[in-house]
Amino acid sequence: MDERDDDIRDLAADLAERIRWEAELGGSGYRKGSTRPADAAPVERCADPAAGLAALRDELGDCTRCKLHEGRTKIVFGDGDPGARLVFVGEGPGHDEDLSGLPFVGAAGQLLSKIIAAIGLDRKDVYICNVVKCRPPKNRDPEPDEVATCGPFLRRQLEIVGPRVIVALGRPATHFLLGTSEPISSLRGRFRDLGGACVMPTFHPAYLLRNESAKRPVWEDMKLVRDALGTCGRSSR
Ligand code: URA
Repeated sequence: MDERDDDIRDLAADLAERIRWEAELGGSGYRKGSTRPADAAPVERCADPAAGLAALRDELGDCTRCKLHEGRTKIVFGDGDPGARLVFVGEGPGHDEDLSGLPFVGAAGQLLSKIIAAIGLDRKDVYICNVVKCRPPKNRDPEPDEVATCGPFLRRQLEIVGPRVIVALGRPATHFLLGTSEPISSLRGRFRDLGGACVMPTFHPAYLLRNESAKRPVWEDMKLVRDALGTCGRSSR
């Protein structure tokens, strides 16, 4: 097979994916991405991520460390594969998550499941968690004191899971993980290193539900994520 055959095969694969994406999400096309993750140093991984997460959950306990505990029904710690290569981080539980104790199960969660399926994975293949573990009232953004209190638990979750790639969904997750206050629109589409993992900021699924035009850039970001899973970050998995 010559180079032209390879190009045609790549184009056909891209087109098939685009059709699948548009059928799933109702998007309107995409531009082929070229951004590659920076090389990241391999990092020691937790020998037993499931046990590590269980111990961290025990340590969190029936948390009253910040004011968010006052209005919560259930703590939403995280869900999925404890040893996942890909982690999605949202901002905090909404109404459905507060009731169920599971992240991303409402309308935004259903869209996130489709996004995960569009890159050939299932929810059980990834790990999903949030910056804060209790629902902020009226779904407002988590406040700085709440992020400062709960954020260290997220950091430890990420250390335990040890993913190659982290997708930061929306502003609070991106700003917390990357320590910046730049808008998502200027941060998305490029990987940043976070302790040996590659972080891709992108728009939150709840934003996509309100803004059709954001679906295309998210698809571009997710293609980069899919491609990076084989090449980027920690070498031991
Ligand atoms: N939005 C989030 O950021 N996290 C959830 O778990 C659900 C909705």
